[in-house]
Amino acid sequence: MRLDKLLANMGFGSRKEVKGLLKKGAITVNGIPVKSPSIHVDENNDNVQVNGETVEYREFIYLMMHKPPGLVSATEDKRDETVVDILQPEDRLFDPFPVGRLDKDTEGLLLLTNDGTLSHQLLSPKKHVQKLYYAQINGEVTENTIQQFEAGVTLDDEYVTKPAILKILKAGSVSEIEIIITEGKFHQIKRMFEAVGMEVTYLKRLQMGSLKLDEELQLGEYRELSDEELNSLI
Ligand code: URA
Repeated sequence: MRLDKLLANMGFGSRKEVKGLLKKGAITVNGIPVKSPSIHVDENNDNVQVNGETVEYREFIYLMMHKPPGLVSATEDKRDETVVDILQPEDRLFDPFPVGRLDKDTEGLLLLTNDGTLSHQLLSPKKHVQKLYYAQINGEVTENTIQQFEAGVTLDDEYVTKPAILKILKAGSVSEIEIIITEGKFHQIKRMFEAVGMEVTYLKRLQMGSLKLDEELQLGEYRELSDEELNSLI
């Protein structure tokens, strides 16, 4: 990788600012002062120092966000604020993107990363990664609904959903439930309940694969995954 790109990616300023640092002689590669921004360094093996401090190179970032309602799950949007817009500039340097989408009004666990391989693994329909949601439903969810969801329901576009596991937390004309799905069709859970004549009034994702929402995170807060969380996801 070019030296100026590595330093810019690691938060040492724009490429222009990095050029200034190089000019000043602040940068060494394997102990040798370097002035050229265009030299290539091996980011994993060469020792790059800025003012005597070794630069720790990282390629990937993994962030767990407690998504608030009102943000769209995208990297940019013409109209709405996105989940990437609320990240700190130093985290945005890694170009993270959301792994899958939560609707604008849905809350809960959202993973953001720049690791395309992990994202692909978590989203691939072949992997059947389980996603757990909590929802409030306008309508009476019953044992019959559980069976319908287990068998698969037909959505408005004739798609028949894969088996979903539904658990009733509170029964009544307004119900509270947990649901596990292994797919990620557009508005899937809302459309599944629509298909059985009910309406989702609140939706929150609690878990994706092994990754559980850290309930210490307030709406709109995020943190890096721990090594343990990351290792169990990979
Ligand atoms: N299903 C939905 O309907 N919306 C979401 O945001 C996620 C799953």
